[in-house]
Amino acid sequence: MSNSQFNDTDHPVGEATQLFVNASQVVTCAGPARARRGPEMNDAGVRSKAAVAVRDGLVAGVDTLGELRARFPDAHEIDCRRGVLMPGLVDSHTHGIFGRPRYDEQEMRAAGLDYMEIARRGGGIHSSVRDLRARSEDELFALARERLTRLATFGATTVEVKSGYGLTLADELKTLRVIARLSGALPLRIVPTFLGAHEIPLEYRESEATRRAYVELLVREMIPRVASERLARFADVFFETGVYTVDESRAILTAARGAGLLLKLHADELTSSGGAELAASLGATSADHLAAVSDEGIEALAHGSTVATLLPGTMLFLGKSTHAPARRLIEAGVPVALATDFNPGTSPTPNLPLVLTLGVSQLRMSVAEAVIAATVNGAAAVAMADRVGQIAPGFSADLALFAIEDVRELPYWYGDNRCIATFVAGKACHTSDLGLT
Ligand SMILES: [Zn+2]
Repeated sequence: MSNSQFNDTDHPVGEATQLFVNASQVVTCAGPARARRGPEMNDAGVRSKAAVAVRDGLVAGVDTLGELRARFPDAHEIDCRRGVLMPGLVDSHTHGIFGRPRYDEQEMRAAGLDYMEIARRGGGIHSSVRDLRARSEDELFALARERLTRLATFGATTVEVKSGYGLTLADELKTLRVIARLSGALPLRIVPTFLGAHEIPLEYRESEATRRAYVELLVREMIPRVASERLARFADVFFETGVYTVDESRAILTAARGAGLLLKLHADELTSSGGAELAASLGATSADHLAAVSDEGIEALAHGSTVATLLPGTMLFLGKSTHAPARRLIEAGVPVALATDFNPGTSPTPNLPLVLTLGVSQLRMSVAEAVIAATVNGAAAVAMADRVGQIAPGFSADLALFAIEDVRELPYWYGDNRCIATFVAGKACHTSDLGLT
């Protein structure tokens, strides 16, 4: 399927030729245009005396300032003020379209109720579903516009956004249309994912027959409609004990693949249920969460092309002490990405650098591994590793500038926002009041 609306030409490009000068470090992440594995993840390509040339929205060169000034004598120079210039961060897993924030559940959890218990009491995803169904497209657009802009202020330039709080044909289409409108209205790159299989809606939970009817609705009506209207690039399923079974997940994703969509899977978040194995066997682009992944699951991912997207912010916010086994995944050769899981129930943070902090402090990743996980491997998790995620000739000039002198400060000042500016295709996307001269 040709996804014409996802082409870079959607984005206005910056001034004809720009030189990004006076960075204390340029973190290029340069290398092959694919997910990085094992020791490859430990090289973020940190250069201390480099400038970056951008022409017509693409990186044209990474070299000494002298060399680039000679090649591009008429370029407009942008002073990086001794900050660290990186590829714009890629947040490859968010549920950014929702209505009411669910701060009330935080105290329920503190009082001892777990995620499944809150869901059984009609909270959790179902309360977001009721809420979203009652809201207009315009209302959801206004809320999401502000929220996704917050993600950009922390350095993200590409954000995957899922539907999944509608769970009817009309409400899922409404959500995906909001995502399409955001894609046109915000300078961010937005990757739309259809997650009609986020939950079994309450009205289909009476019996096995009604449950089957919802899966049929997904397979026969929703997926073909979403694909024919080109409203999503990916389809995703919440495969978890008590939500979608392995057979249902396989049926839904197989239908999605047949309709031309790429695949993602919420896998092994709370219980080890063969999610990683299923994602690998279907050739999914990513398997996400994996806090409870089994040894067999790690093995299956190591032999396939699926990116393991880890979401440690969710475990932190849920008060869990377990985390995805990032070290074992990396050592087995599985490409690992990090993302916020930005959503109203279990991870309401827009701060991807904070997730890098958790990657280092909780998942025991090196800073280079965490950086690769939120750039190149995040790009691979949204099937864009050929265009974004590295500062290298021919790649889109999607950049993030941070007010730090060393990239190791990015996860160090945890919770702080040091992002000065982001650029998408060389054009300023976000600038903070820390300012650029
Ligand atoms: Zn999720």
